[in-house]
Amino acid sequence: MPHRPYIVGNWKMNGTRAMLAEARAIDRAAGRYPDVQVAIAPPFTLIGALREAVSAMGVGGQDCHVNAKGAHTGDVSAQMLVDTGADFVIVGHSERRKDHGESDVLIKAKAEAALAAGLGIIVCVGETLEERDGGKAEAVVSAQVTASMPDSDAAADAVASGKVAVAYEPVWAIGTGRVAEVADVVAMHAQIRQQLLALYGDAGAKVRILYGGSVNAGNARDLLAAEGVGGALVGGASLTAEAFLPIVAAADNGEA
Ligand code: PEP
Repeated sequence: MPHRPYIVGNWKMNGTRAMLAEARAIDRAAGRYPDVQVAIAPPFTLIGALREAVSAMGVGGQDCHVNAKGAHTGDVSAQMLVDTGADFVIVGHSERRKDHGESDVLIKAKAEAALAAGLGIIVCVGETLEERDGGKAEAVVSAQVTASMPDSDAAADAVASGKVAVAYEPVWAIGTGRVAEVADVVAMHAQIRQQLLALYGDAGAKVRILYGGSVNAGNARDLLAAEGVGGALVGGASLTAEAFLPIVAAADNGEA
């Protein structure tokens, strides 16, 4: 089933109000590519301002807490993300898994909390270099998908309406300039698709599977045209309109 490609910028811990001009420029261009769904996940501090500044693209969070409220200093709940104007949230990014020791169990709980609050979700999975070199990439990603995707009961409506995405992001390809081989990406996306169909039934075909890891203007076309690649999660190359827009344009011409 063809999907509307989904190109998502993850600004990580980058961006002050000075970057709103970039967001506006990205948004203006997004309006010229109606066949591509474009979104930015800025730091929490910019979600509200971005929501006000843009109209064509989505705005999301980079994480959320599992609880709606309570004594969790420094954390932000899915309900708070909705309140400030977010449409979706990324959960399970490898930097959260590594820097904050997030487990698959916690990520699944966050994903379900986000869905319950009405947000779309992007659940990140991906192997380390050691795991790939050790021939364990498929097993590691399979285990992550099994344990961190929301249960079918919790996710049914969101899956059916296309609000659930998975991002396959080999950890060794994030922020390194090293990109996975297209053939390896195709194989891993096919494996993830089989798992999604097993988990959600036929509706699993509606979950977009994004690739992430050093996507840029030079490699986006090949990656986005690859079988089973439904879009991209982009870090470094999403920080300026100049770097991000060629990726959006590549998605418009791709078969994603
Ligand atoms: C990411 O942050 O999810 C990512 C893929 O980063 P980069 O594009 O910089 O590798």
